[in-house]
Amino acid sequence: MPRTKNSARFTKYLCLDCRKTLKREVEGPATRTCANCGGEAVRMGHRFRAPALSKKQEWDVVLFLVRNGFYFDRVYVSTSTPGTQALLTYPTSMQEAKAFVEQWADYAQPLELYREQYISANAKR
Ligand SMILES: [Zn+2]
Repeated sequence: MPRTKNSARFTKYLCLDCRKTLKREVEGPATRTCANCGGEAVRMGHRFRAPALSKKQEWDVVLFLVRNGFYFDRVYVSTSTPGTQALLTYPTSMQEAKAFVEQWADYAQPLELYREQYISANAKR
């Protein structure tokens, strides 16, 4: 399919080493090489907002979630009401993040598997 200007959408990748975000086209692998340090940059979901570099505690939470298989995508989970789903809200403190990772372990995508993915331009995010 020919690429048009309108289809060139961008998404964020986060380097886990230097915490820089890179903007890259939507279509592509789930991880890329960081332009700053050469480390691995991981594709982040739409809901990701990078904290200020000085906010160490916020970064600890982000990195903890990514290392546990959550990339700030929209994740819908089943609720106690049959046939209904709820959108996960990402935690903002480390205490919440630890509980979150345990509670939603079934929804995690381990980085080893995530890394293998290739996202096409038409994928819905
Ligand atoms: Zn880097």
